Amino acid sequence: MLVVMDAHASEAQVRAVCEKVESLGYRAHPIPGAQRTAIGITGNQGLVEVATLEEMSGVQEVIRVSKPYKLVSRDVKPDNTVIRFSGTEATIGGPDLAIIAGPCAVESREQAFAVAEQVHRAGAQFFRGGAFKPRTSPYAFQGMALEGLKILADIRQQFHMPVVTEAIDHESLEMVEEYADVIQIGARNMQNFSLLRRAGRSVRPILLKRGMAATLDEFLMAAEYVLSEGNYNVILCERGVRTFADHTRNTLDLSIVPAVQRLSHLPILVDPSHGTGKRDKVIPMSLAAVAAGAQGLVVEVHTDPDHALSDGNQSLFPEQFAQLVGEVQQISAVLRRNASRASGAR
Ligand code: PEP
Ligand code: MN
Repeated sequence: MLVVMDAHASEAQVRAVCEKVESLGYRAHPIPGAQRTAIGITGNQGLVEVATLEEMSGVQEVIRVSKPYKLVSRDVKPDNTVIRFSGTEATIGGPDLAIIAGPCAVESREQAFAVAEQVHRAGAQFFRGGAFKPRTSPYAFQGMALEGLKILADIRQQFHMPVVTEAIDHESLEMVEEYADVIQIGARNMQNFSLLRRAGRSVRPILLKRGMAATLDEFLMAAEYVLSEGNYNVILCERGVRTFADHTRNTLDLSIVPAVQRLSHLPILVDPSHGTGKRDKVIPMSLAAVAAGAQGLVVEVHTDPDHALSDGNQSLFPEQFAQLVGEVQQISAVLRRNASRASGAR
């Protein structure tokens, strides 16, 4: 259910509607928009009595949202969500491409700083690196945990890049939210509903990766879990799905980019590293992702990929990453030029 307020509705009127909604046992989600404020209503108590809300002052109309996802939907919020990071120019979901780069895992202070220096110089706005690694084998490197998070925090300090790192359970999420700027929920946890709810109570933005067998609806519903708890800063990320194709690690499903953008206001990024699993395919698929309209990229980079403790095969050398940034910026500039021409013509 969605309450659409009048364009001139006062803050007090919006507050009164929210209080009414909460008093009926539902949750109210005020969503300011360019034209007017809308209030999303969620809860599992059955249908809200529409007339009760319709007669309140400042209310324009009350609409039933028929889609299963509500708060992630463009019906509820037509304008794109843009996530900002205080103290930096970096944004996710705005007109500029957001480029998140770094190693798969933080392996040591030296390794992480060496990669950070290179990706920063090449133009990445965000640094990534796992401190908690969800590995297929229990005997594989599991990440440096708290020590890794401290290294990431030092990198943020030194290079002024917000850092993105994965939380794999409730315990690690508590730690990650203290040190990182964005909390990643990985593909293997996309349907860990209790973790999603916990992420929804965090003050940090959430980078939610698509599960390797998730449909578009399942992906959006996973995001809905986070928003339903009050955290509206969710960034979606396509990272490839399992198919019969065996020339790549996963099949990068770029068609999900326009599909998400049609239905949802949330930003969608593409991870061509996990999406292909092969270094030589990362640049071409990055170009394709940006051409398809992705709002940014998540790319793995390593200064010595042959000795990386995880995902060396798909990690770019720093020079390749610099080439990637140059090439995607050209594509992005063409698209932006075309977009402004198109809007000027209207
Ligand atoms: C990662 O980003 O290193 C990672 C493990 O990603 P995914 O969850 O997409 O496999
Ligand atoms: Mn990885």
